[in-house]
Formats: sequence, structure tokens, C-alpha cells
Amino acid sequence: MTDGALEFFKNILETPSPSGYEQPVQAVVREYVRGFSEEVTTDAHGNLIAVKNPGAALRLMFAGHCDQIGLIVSYIDDHGFLYTQPIGGWDPQQLVGQRLTIWTAEGPVLGVIARKPIHLLTEEQRKQVPKIKDLWIDIGAKDREDAASRVRIGDAVTFELSLQRMAGGLANSPGMDDKTGLWVVMEALRRTESEKLACSLHAVSTVQEEIGLRGARTSAYGIDPQVGIAVDVTHATDCPTIEKESEGDIKLGRGPVIYRGPNNNPVVVERLIRIAEEQNIPYQLGAIGRATPTDANSLQVTRSGVATALVSIPNRYMHSAVETISLEDIDHAADLLAGFAISLTADDTFVP
Ligand SMILES: [Zn+2]
Repeated sequence: MTDGALEFFKNILETPSPSGYEQPVQAVVREYVRGFSEEVTTDAHGNLIAVKNPGAALRLMFAGHCDQIGLIVSYIDDHGFLYTQPIGGWDPQQLVGQRLTIWTAEGPVLGVIARKPIHLLTEEQRKQVPKIKDLWIDIGAKDREDAASRVRIGDAVTFELSLQRMAGGLANSPGMDDKTGLWVVMEALRRTESEKLACSLHAVSTVQEEIGLRGARTSAYGIDPQVGIAVDVTHATDCPTIEKESEGDIKLGRGPVIYRGPNNNPVVVERLIRIAEEQNIPYQLGAIGRATPTDANSLQVTRSGVATALVSIPNRYMHSAVETISLEDIDHAADLLAGFAISLTADDTFVP
């Protein structure tokens, strides 16, 4: 991984993008991909589309969703405490005791979210799982007026955003779901830079995946690809309490996961596996027997159907402040997708 590519990864992780509030991260992506894309556009939904070799009859789309889960400020009480609604799927326990950032028009406002200390919880309360509606954000405001002068109803909230490198080539940050996928699709595009492609390659930073796979739906309709690959995270099962019998054997650092199952076109899957084997790219196989909860679902059923595959990055502690991935896995995933794009010929068909 080049220094520039690693810097880009850090930048997107440290830029907020709750669903519907992706504009700041799209600005970072736009600036970065300009250097190696022939076309960069943004549609009315907010999807950013970077293209190489536009105009070719065979259209290949890569989708990595740039949105992350967050909160939206919905009420300020008399004392200046903020109440929120979730954006995306939260385990409220992940929030208690965290530093948060409210992203306002005037810039970031720092706050904390917690609940009353254990000493003050009744026996009954200790057993209860907190609900988001019962948790408040404290920004240090004096009262409602003071808070309202700094935060507006509808402002979005994230965990404090920062990338932390760990031993063994691992790293943690909020939003690895799915800034890793976003990074992979743009890095794959960059890695085709010196190659002549037989297809047009559309690398898309999709929006609003976390609230219903929505940006992939609109962008795929617009691009009308014959082939599409979504890159998202999947649960690593190499930590305590996760059952391999039901969740499969997925380890950090063992390579991207190529999924098999009805959401995946078998011709695309076999080609991905062949490329990984030929180029000595480590990979793992995963299986999902239904439509996956990823952009691959929207992609596959676009228009009259798209030959779709899902490539996933193993991730521990999904939808938490400390989502943990292996940097080698994203590097290998970018090689795999670039290799796939380069392998296409104009007369390839993907009818299974
Ligand atoms: Zn995701």
C-alpha cells in the first residue's frame, strides 16, 4: 500500500458520513480520484461515480458504500441536553460512555453520551439494556438556548472519528463499515491506471446503504452495468463468542471473502476465484443462502438483472467505535478487483 493510499484511507475514516450526510466524505473522495479517473460525477442522490474508459459497451460497476451509522439530533431539552434518533442499525450499548461529535454547519461540536453511574442504578436498572431514546448527549451547554445556538435539529452525530493502528497489521476505527469497501473500489480503479481496459469501469462511492441499500439502487440504474461487484465488510469469526457453525470461519488477515450463494452470479464468482488463484491473492470463501444485506442485493436486481458478486472485508466488532480490520485484507481486495477489471474482454458474457 502506498503512503498516498494509506493517507486516503485515514482521511475517509476521519471524515463523517452518516447516511444522508455523506457530502463531506464525497468531497474527500472527489479530490483524491480526480488524479486517476477520466470522469468524476455525482448524481442527485449523492453517489460519487469515478470512471475509467467511459463509453465502452461492457460496463463494470464497483460499489463501496461511503455512509456509516450515526445519530440525528431530534430534540433539545430545557437543560441543553440533546436527544437523538438512530441512523442505521445500532446496538445502544455501544454508545454508553463514548465521545461523540455533532457535525454542525459551523463545524464539529464535541459531546459525550453516557447514563447514570452504576452506583446510582437500581438492581432492576442494572439488568436493563439502555434504549437510544433514553440516552442524552451532553455538549456542556448551560441550557436549551445555549445548546440551540450551537446545534441545529437535524444535525448528524458520529463517534469521535480516528484511525488507530494495532499490532499484526490490524487497525480500528468507527466506520470500517464501509470505508474499507469505499477504499477498495477506488484503489482498484487506481491500480488499473497503467492498463488498457476492454470495459468501462465505474467505481461508485454509494450513499445510504445503512438505511436500505439505496445508493446502489439509484447509481446502478443510472450506470446500467452488465457486471457489478459490491465490496462491504463481513463478520470476522476469529474472536470469542461467535459461533463458526452458524457464521462460518472468517479470519482477519486471511484475505478478502468471496461469497457464494444466490446473491452472487456463479460466472463472476468463479472468475474472481480464478484470478485470486492465478495471482496468489489470498481469499476466503463465505456462504449466504439469501439476498445479502449489502449493495450486492440492490445491484443484482437492477433493471433486468446484473451479474453480481460480493467481496467482503473481515471485520471484528461491526457497528461499534472499534471496528477492527486487517490492512493486508483491503490491499488484497483492491488487487482482486483490479485483476478482475483487467481480465474482462469485450465479448465476455455472464449469463449463468
Ligand atoms: Zn456496510
